[in-house]
Amino acid sequence: MIINSDWHIHSEYSFDASNTLSEIAESALSQGLCRVGIADHANYNDNKFLSDIKRSAEAVKAANEKYPHLVLGVEFTPIAKPEYDYAVLHNGSRDGYVPPEEGTPYPIELALTKEEMLSLGIRYAVGASHWRVDSPRAHVYQKDISVCAREWYRQQLFMATDERVTILGHPWYHPEHIWYEDFSVIPHSMHMDIGHALKENGKYIECNKGFFTDYVTTEKFRHQYADFLREMFEMGIKVTFGSDFHADFHDVRDLVEPYLKASGFKEGDICEVAEEDLWQ
Ligand SMILES: [Zn+2]
Ligand SMILES: [Zn+2]
Repeated sequence: MIINSDWHIHSEYSFDASNTLSEIAESALSQGLCRVGIADHANYNDNKFLSDIKRSAEAVKAANEKYPHLVLGVEFTPIAKPEYDYAVLHNGSRDGYVPPEEGTPYPIELALTKEEMLSLGIRYAVGASHWRVDSPRAHVYQKDISVCAREWYRQQLFMATDERVTILGHPWYHPEHIWYEDFSVIPHSMHMDIGHALKENGKYIECNKGFFTDYVTTEKFRHQYADFLREMFEMGIKVTFGSDFHADFHDVRDLVEPYLKASGFKEGDICEVAEEDLWQ
């Protein structure tokens, strides 16, 4: 198999997921995966997400007694700094937050500081773009390819250089799938800039199963996307696999690996996060 470990799985401690840790751990053993990373959502620094992440961390640490192959991670998404600051000022509540019209594009922030991550026992982080944070109510206006490409580029470059991110998760995922027919609409220079930043900062890039299994991606896109991952690999960037399962964690390698093989991936090319790249 090309894929031997999985660094992006959601447990029941994510608001939108239902896998229990023992289901994940047992499924991993039966799939023959040597290590699996639990990367529950840490979207915002509000009480809801902070409590989810605390519960995830405590449960993974307890499960490690029986299942040492589970690794505690977290999944970040870029958020707007003014919203982060608002939650800090309002005791962990985002209620009543109004995005300022001025000062856009907003500086990017992530939900946890490095110190907070370390005190929770988190060993690595997946950082992944999910939506725009560059302007007020940007979630609503996400259909323009060139505007979105610039914003995804900004976010992904941020994560490629931020010390809190270990793996760039599902690069170029888009909730409205706007470039899922022809990936070449993303300027190649953006891939190169992000690739150089990942490499210089010793970060990993994720091969996420969704691009190869979701009905929304075309065959053409899937091959273009595997070629993109191969180009990153050939630049010297380490590639991990993330199934990103939220429920019913199971083996999907037979669906993903044919695309990877067609782009030149061989056994040994998709790696684990090295022990020296895991915190604590
Ligand atoms: Zn994600
Ligand atoms: Zn995820």
